[in-house]
Amino acid sequence: MKQIVVLGSGLAGYSVIRELRKLDRDIPVTLVTRDSGDYYSKPMLSNAFAQGKDAAGLVLTRAADMAAQLGITLLAKTEVQAIDRANKKLATTAGELAYDRLVIALGADPIRIPVQGDAADAVMSVNDIADYAQLRKSVQGVAHITIMGGGLIGCEFANDWATAGYKVSVVDPGPYPLASLMPEQAGRQLLAPLAEIGVDWHFGTSVSRVDRHENGYTLTLADGTQLQTDLVLSAVGLRPRIALAQAAGLAVNRGIKVDASLRSSDAAIFALGDCAEIEGKVQPFVLPIMNAARALAKTLAGEETPVVFPAMPVVVKTPAHPVAVLPVARDAVGNWQLRANSDGVKMAFLDADARMSGFVLTGRYAAERNEMSKLLGQPLPAGTSHEAKV
Ligand SMILES: Cc1cc2nc3c(=O)[nH]c(=O)nc-3n(C[C@H](O)[C@H](O)[C@H](O)COP(=O)(O)OP(=O)(O)OC[C@H]3O[C@@H](n4cnc5c(N)ncnc54)[C@H](O)[C@@H]3O)c2cc1C
Repeated sequence: MKQIVVLGSGLAGYSVIRELRKLDRDIPVTLVTRDSGDYYSKPMLSNAFAQGKDAAGLVLTRAADMAAQLGITLLAKTEVQAIDRANKKLATTAGELAYDRLVIALGADPIRIPVQGDAADAVMSVNDIADYAQLRKSVQGVAHITIMGGGLIGCEFANDWATAGYKVSVVDPGPYPLASLMPEQAGRQLLAPLAEIGVDWHFGTSVSRVDRHENGYTLTLADGTQLQTDLVLSAVGLRPRIALAQAAGLAVNRGIKVDASLRSSDAAIFALGDCAEIEGKVQPFVLPIMNAARALAKTLAGEETPVVFPAMPVVVKTPAHPVAVLPVARDAVGNWQLRANSDGVKMAFLDADARMSGFVLTGRYAAERNEMSKLLGQPLPAGTSHEAKV
């Protein structure tokens, strides 16, 4: 029988196999991953500290149990080095492996911003459970942590560590938190609640030097400010892992280019998750991955199924001031309107026809994301700057 090989044991790789097994118990599946293959929830990495969880406590299912439950061959601690499309073979650190159909779910790498200084290489990032284990070791004796990046991941870590009792500084060249996701009025809502739990914000600047100082570091910011800190974490974004696909001659852009059926420029190769660019969009979040995995499983089982994405609001895990946002494209035509603002804001993005195509809910409104999602595409009356019902 034809062999499906899946590369990567993150949410994308495991979800597509799990969905496939609901449809077909027999197709041979081999999963190749360079990590341990243990299954864990990556979103927990940015809210596990305050709960006192170590890396082992985040593992939901051990690799061997995953392999047994899913009826797959698991090649853990095995790195894929090349894809030979002409011969449908992979070069891996465990030797060659043949495939009939290949699913690439290799995730993304943290972006590293170049910084100067004798401790530039001490800047950490947390993008998987091994990084988290390393971080937990590094925080022994630490009182102050600096986070480079005030986006979703940076804000979540800031909230988590401040709750766990650390002093936290956030440094971001943008004007306010979560600036790539939402308008200023909404992003500013996070400033005071996070400051109250111990977060100190530095916007409009960036870290230019990291130098060793006694037991910690001196950071020099681009605006000349100096900060003493004990640990530096970079959370400035992710870059889809496209190198293997690119070297194999697959079409790539920011991510591995795939159509709505998750098929790459090679009909035998599919991609999903943080490494994929589905019809021009990279969507590195749980809900798009789950939807893509369900559609791809059907296609692999023989029923060609393009993915159709429903409204997928992003929930930002900042309990000091919760946020749910359905972002709009940077070039979207329309404007943000305030619908309500007491202990948070409710804002709707109205397109040129006054129909809602995005929203942001913060504070006490964050729980209303399902109700707001139901109003998508509907015409809304113009908002006011005071408490106004949508
Ligand atoms: C701290 C944090 C918090 C987050 N919180 C949220 C949230 O609250 N909500 C939300 O929707 N999303 C959240 N996300 C995003 C979400 O977790 C990711 O989009 C998702 O987990 C990505 O899954 P993936 O399988 O595509 O990639 P990954 O989980 O990165 O998996 C990639 C796999 O590929 C393997 N691999 C890589 N290269 C090779 C190679 N050469 N050979 C073999 N194997 C290889 C890796 O070992 C790994 O198993 C968060 C992300 C982070 C980092």
